[in-house]
Amino acid sequence: MKRALITGVTGQDGRHLAEFLTTQGYQVFGLIRGQNNPKSAMVAAENPALELVDGDLRDLSSLIGIVEQVQPDEVYNLGAISFVQLSFKQAELTAEITGLGVLRMLEAVRIVGGTQNNPIRFYQASSSEMFGKVRETPQTEQTPFHPRSPYGVAKVFGHYTTLNYREAYGIHASSGILFNHEGPRRGLEFVTRKVTNSVARIKLGLQNNITLGDLDPKRDWGYAGDYVKAMWMMLQQDEPDDYVISTGETHSIRELLDVAFRLAGYDDWTRFVKQDPRFYRPSEVNLLIGDATKAREKLGWVPKVSFEELVAMMYENDLKEESERARHPH
Ligand code: GDP
Repeated sequence: MKRALITGVTGQDGRHLAEFLTTQGYQVFGLIRGQNNPKSAMVAAENPALELVDGDLRDLSSLIGIVEQVQPDEVYNLGAISFVQLSFKQAELTAEITGLGVLRMLEAVRIVGGTQNNPIRFYQASSSEMFGKVRETPQTEQTPFHPRSPYGVAKVFGHYTTLNYREAYGIHASSGILFNHEGPRRGLEFVTRKVTNSVARIKLGLQNNITLGDLDPKRDWGYAGDYVKAMWMMLQQDEPDDYVISTGETHSIRELLDVAFRLAGYDDWTRFVKQDPRFYRPSEVNLLIGDATKAREKLGWVPKVSFEELVAMMYENDLKEESERARHPH
């Protein structure tokens, strides 16, 4: 039985990946931080086969201890402060966890190493936010980075650290440059879920409007369930490498609003949407669109869920959750 260790197992991708690896026959271990972490009961209930282990991306010796204990075949480093807006307010903490956390996890992998026949393989969750103020369109593995937030800067550090450990120590370390990926498990602070949840609540008469920031930025949005499979595929290759994972389509926040409100039966959303400078960012990423040709050709990876299907999946889930909550408020 193969063994996998996932950091960030309580996040959207960690939960999808833990489920996927369990169905692939892996024994899955999830790193969890802090005593009585409120999310541990949730992930344990969701995936009873998942084993939680205590550790912290800020603490190298805890990571060495975990890797020694778990003896994983594969390590997936998904743990991060991942909300761009928050990264402006907690820039140092973001650098510490989203950036230096990668270095510490790689150090633990390098020091413990695994067996000679079976060295530990490593996946780093890199991000399209590294492209930031994009130098070319669409973005590929060759596109230079120009991050526009402390989050993006920290991810660039993590990405190059992964490359360096591959080149310097021969570690099977791959980096997935994932474009935005969403789903019903997305946190409510991200714009897709904020919109689908608010539209569901407006439909149910629980809310009157939605307050957003800039409506013009464009993102290449895919489904998280599709994207975690790409992570696994990267670690099954003979050689480690970097891959862009994206749909190749881009949509603005306005188009997201068009689709979500139309699902709820409203043709004109302008009367429901307010804007507030609070949700604008000090520096914005205006356009992201990825070219995942390499992933398609080398990994055989293709996304299955379209933008419209993704928004519908999220809206339907929010409608169900919010109407259940309204019926049983406690
Ligand atoms: P990101 O691409 O990782 O920053 O993902 P987000 O979902 O947080 O933001 C996507 C885009 O939506 C960014 O360009 C935001 O500036 C824009 N946006 C506009 N209004 C909002 C809002 O109210 N919340 C969030 N999270 N983003 C918003």
